[in-house]
Amino acid sequence: MTRSSSPRAIVVGGSLGGLLAATTLRAAGWSVDVFERSPSALDSRGGGIVLQPDVLDAFRFAGVAHGSALGVRSGDRIYLDAADRVVHRSFMPQTQTSWNMLYGAMRSALPSGTVHAGERLVSFREAVGTVTALFESGRLETGDLLVGADGARSAVRGQLLPGHAPRYAGYVAWRGLVPEKEVATSVANRLGQAFVFQQGPDHLLLEYLVPGEDGATAEGARRRNWVWYRPLDRESLARLLTARDGSVHALALPPGLAKDGDVAALRRDALALLSPSLRALVLATEAPFVQAIVDLSVPRMRFGATVLIGDAAFVPRPHTAGSTAKAAANALSLAQALRVGAQGPAEDRLARWEAQQLALGRSMSAAGIGMGNRIMGLDR
Ligand SMILES: Cc1cc2nc3c(=O)[nH]c(=O)nc-3n(C[C@H](O)[C@H](O)[C@H](O)COP(=O)(O)OP(=O)(O)OC[C@H]3O[C@@H](n4cnc5c(N)ncnc54)[C@H](O)[C@@H]3O)c2cc1C
Repeated sequence: MTRSSSPRAIVVGGSLGGLLAATTLRAAGWSVDVFERSPSALDSRGGGIVLQPDVLDAFRFAGVAHGSALGVRSGDRIYLDAADRVVHRSFMPQTQTSWNMLYGAMRSALPSGTVHAGERLVSFREAVGTVTALFESGRLETGDLLVGADGARSAVRGQLLPGHAPRYAGYVAWRGLVPEKEVATSVANRLGQAFVFQQGPDHLLLEYLVPGEDGATAEGARRRNWVWYRPLDRESLARLLTARDGSVHALALPPGLAKDGDVAALRRDALALLSPSLRALVLATEAPFVQAIVDLSVPRMRFGATVLIGDAAFVPRPHTAGSTAKAAANALSLAQALRVGAQGPAEDRLARWEAQQLALGRSMSAAGIGMGNRIMGLDR
């Protein structure tokens, strides 16, 4: 143990995976510090997320408070054709939330001073029973556990498994959010409260309601979230991920950074390919953003006193709608395995944690690859 009576965890990455680890480990008796490379709050990342039970389990364990509604309910799933006709309908109720909502709930649950912004991990080293992290600022932090929650391009994984990097799957997801009050009544009536899809020969758009930016779930205060999967070759991807200010991005462009020409091309394609109501959403989106779809799997998640969780370990394709739930399951089961006062050797509990979470990551990755290749016609 280091520095205090509680064991200390150093969490690298302050997005959803990192905050899930921080909140659950604290509830398990650990002292936790989170180090996030971004200097500012991450609250503008936006994006809708399907709320899965694992996230609620982690929130319950960690005592993360949230208003009664953590999201917006949908009942039917409907498929539209290019003329806005419903060609398929099934009843599949679920709740949609947003990245901001989950992030905000967890940030509020952590004592101030827990998250250290503007700290980029450069490397780390292990000694017997402790691990020391070195940050770009020159800061050194020593703990009993290092949690790599630093996403698909994880620096923690880069040091442990240098050969394992995300592999581009051949398509991207354009995404956008439109405040409900900016959507024409005819479009709102067509889309309703459903989880809406339009499947083309090699593209898929899906749309659903999520809370407003301030978390509001009342009618009129919510946002319509859309995701449009489009094929794109590697060379075009490199051009697309070069932002309007010339900066080059590896996997995604945040809102506001896509070049005018790329946004204009997106809008032209929307006019040509999408049904009238879905096209209206794309055209109404002020700052569409884009993410490359990638595959990533690791053979191990535990290396002495260091573990990998969330997207740092496995990036399932987003069709599984389960990556945040996977990060929650990784974090909650880690906290349960390492709960202060738990019986039996920690080594055995961690070994069981790793075996279960590797199995979860592998099955979710395989399911996502199957779904994605089928949707995009890449299996033909
Ligand atoms: C198109 C699309 C749709 C999606 N839809 C869904 C959905 O419906 N449901 C769902 O569950 N999930 C969805 N996801 C995935 C989901 O967003 C993530 O899986 C989830 O948020 C967990 O991410 P993470 O925290 O592990 O990694 P990230 O969100 O990538 O966070 C990693 C953090 O680490 C920081 N970092 C990186 N390197 C360093 C370093 N060296 N030092 C310090 N900090 C560092 C980064 O700045 C970042 O804040 C979707 C993803 C995509 C691409």
